Amino acid sequence: MSYVDEVLAQLIEKNPAEPEFHQAAKEVLESLRPVVEQNEEKFRKDALLERLINPERQVKFRVPWVDDKGQVQVNTGYRVEFNSAIGPYKGGLRFHPSVNLGIIKFLGFEQIFKNSLTGLPIGGGKGGSDFDPKGKSDREVMAFCQSFMTELQRHIGPNTDVPAGDIGVGGREIGYMFGQYKRIRNAYEGVLTGKGLTYGGSLARTEATGYGLLYYTEEMMKCNGHDMAGKTVVVSGAGNVAIYATQKAQQMGAKVVTVSDSTGWIYDSEGIDVELLKEIKEVKRARLTEYAAARKSAEYHEGKGVWSVKCDVALPCATQNELDIEDAKTLVANGVIAVAEGANMPTTLEATEYLQENGVLFAPGKASNAGGVATSALEMSQNSERLSWSFEEVDSKLKNIMVNIFHACDDASKKYGYEKNYVVGANIAGFEKVVDAMTAQGIV
Ligand code: NDP
Repeated sequence: MSYVDEVLAQLIEKNPAEPEFHQAAKEVLESLRPVVEQNEEKFRKDALLERLINPERQVKFRVPWVDDKGQVQVNTGYRVEFNSAIGPYKGGLRFHPSVNLGIIKFLGFEQIFKNSLTGLPIGGGKGGSDFDPKGKSDREVMAFCQSFMTELQRHIGPNTDVPAGDIGVGGREIGYMFGQYKRIRNAYEGVLTGKGLTYGGSLARTEATGYGLLYYTEEMMKCNGHDMAGKTVVVSGAGNVAIYATQKAQQMGAKVVTVSDSTGWIYDSEGIDVELLKEIKEVKRARLTEYAAARKSAEYHEGKGVWSVKCDVALPCATQNELDIEDAKTLVANGVIAVAEGANMPTTLEATEYLQENGVLFAPGKASNAGGVATSALEMSQNSERLSWSFEEVDSKLKNIMVNIFHACDDASKKYGYEKNYVVGANIAGFEKVVDAMTAQGIV
């Protein structure tokens, strides 16, 4: 059995109830085969892949809090500190009822390679809780965040582990957690990113993942003879990534005709009105039915369905495994040119392969959505300098980073004979730097 197959088999045997982690590891390790085969003896002797797939540390903790009725609630908190070879652990916190250890491990594992691709000194980690902020009052969200941070603060720090937001964790949650950290540790330091602008946040961090996705997509299109201007774009999700992806795509002259949330989706023949969407999602925290009610050109549909809309570019920006093989077939039949992942692992392995086999340009999330974490690292730099950079300065650094990431993926794919396979390119380019650092640091 090859070394890659052995390690994958071991991973599944030792972590049986973690299908998302299996999926992420399989995607990465499969595409690393050409590099692993060239170094098999050394990697095997150093147990390099075993060390790569086992987190350096994982914590799981109780999060008790009191709701508005005086009832005590108990949630579970997680932080997986996966790999610190190239810098302090960095990766978001997700608050969603579906969160479990396997999901956090899949996200943390992906984060190692994503962070490496940014070219910045950040290791990989991820965390979160099965707490659902939806339908909770601000006071309840604060009670939860304070209790969560009361435990998490033991494990993190500006030079150790610097969490950020993810699904269900935006500016409000980061603010409550930062306040509690500062109170307990008596230290005003850059321990979280995605902070508000009045207390150490970076301009353009809110926009960064969505904008970065479009900078990457534009470069990928350009290098393959296409332009974003005039294209019809389909977006899923209506959260942070989806909103700013929609905004940047429209600034580039494309027309975005859909967005979605966990209950339904919108088709807007005139193009999504981003200001209206922001008002509904960021201010009122309401459902998409309100968008349809406010706009004549918009139709609301229950359930899943954005991938059935004819488009040139598809941007999945909601959650994992939201684009499956049937969706991929529909997109191909409708003539899609490019699929670029804004979310983490939104496309199933089968769907990814189908898209690639049919000549669709496919941008894997660990490369195309790296703009969020890259800008988080820029926030860390500003916090360390105790300075704030202008929006234009951060945005231009972000654009530069995304263009460089695309070329790093492109170059690595060519080097190993997988031209235009940006999945292989991203995994190899991210892996090479981490392996080099791990090897230099000895068996730790
Ligand atoms: P938000 O919480 O802001 O938005 C998530 C959106 O996806 C919402 O519209 C939500 O709908 C929808 N959604 C979530 N879960 C499901 C589900 N199970 N089925 C259908 N729809 C769902 O999160 P973000 O925009 O921050 O994150 C979206 C994706 O991007 C995630 O995969 C995240 O890991 C990834 N990502 C985020 C980064 C960031 O900087 N924020 C950075 C890199 C990646 P509803 O409101 O109804 O739940």
